[in-house]
Amino acid sequence: MSQDETTVLLQHHLKALKLPTILREHEAMARLCAKERSSYNDFLLKLTERELMDREQRAADRRLRDAKFPVLKTLDSFDFTAQPSINEAAVRELTRGEYLSGRENVLIVGNPGTGKSHLATALGHAACMQGNRVRFFTVTGLVTQLLEHREERNLQRLHRQLERNRFLILDELGYVPFTKAGAELLFDVVSRAYERNSLIVTTNLPFEQWTEVMGSERLTGALLDRLTHRVHILEANGESYRLQDSKKRRKKTGK
Ligand code: ADP
Ligand code: MG
Repeated sequence: MSQDETTVLLQHHLKALKLPTILREHEAMARLCAKERSSYNDFLLKLTERELMDREQRAADRRLRDAKFPVLKTLDSFDFTAQPSINEAAVRELTRGEYLSGRENVLIVGNPGTGKSHLATALGHAACMQGNRVRFFTVTGLVTQLLEHREERNLQRLHRQLERNRFLILDELGYVPFTKAGAELLFDVVSRAYERNSLIVTTNLPFEQWTEVMGSERLTGALLDRLTHRVHILEANGESYRLQDSKKRRKKTGK
């Protein structure tokens, strides 16, 4: 077989085996290894390492895309000094993801603008990087989807989709009260997650006021019971970050 024929066949096989990185890099790597007089094993090891690394990166990118974070935020850009009530050590511990194996929940409570969504997204990002499937919802967005699926009689399909995730982020509980049906459907999600996976919930409401959005006291009690059975609570009781930021800027410009 000629050199050209070998290359064409090899490239065909690499495509069929779905090894895009080896396909792209094998010629350059072969030249490098020839120059360095590396062994065949070395050559193969280097190529498979590259393929593996790229594959992990592609999978992590896919998980980040599928999580549908509204804005991608990480802890690197979170300023803990601006929100001293948030326990930095506890947050860093949570990014290790051990709460996921214990099906523990995280509840982030605080006023608007105190970084709740930022922290929830950062925990979601960390979990994606560790190989977990995550899905971000605003609570109202999720309830709307639940109601739509119920209307179309394919609620079970949505539940199965949700359950494929290691955990769900439910952002902004408390901004809009639910209808009775909406509250019950949300309770269903929390109740199913209790058996299977973790939830991160952000809210501006203290527990006493949850009945106001859920409607029924009994349902709120049952929901809180499941949500708080194994829970890490982060409380941001400082001022809005945007407000602090604009005050600082005003001070600087003297306006
Ligand atoms: P919340 O969800 O509590 O209303 P967000 O997480 O949406 O607040 O925060 C509002 C904006 O301020 C976002 O752009 C967020 O990244 C930023 N922010 C809030 N707190 C901090 C912080 N401590 N350090 C850095 N950025 C912050
Ligand atoms: Mg928010």
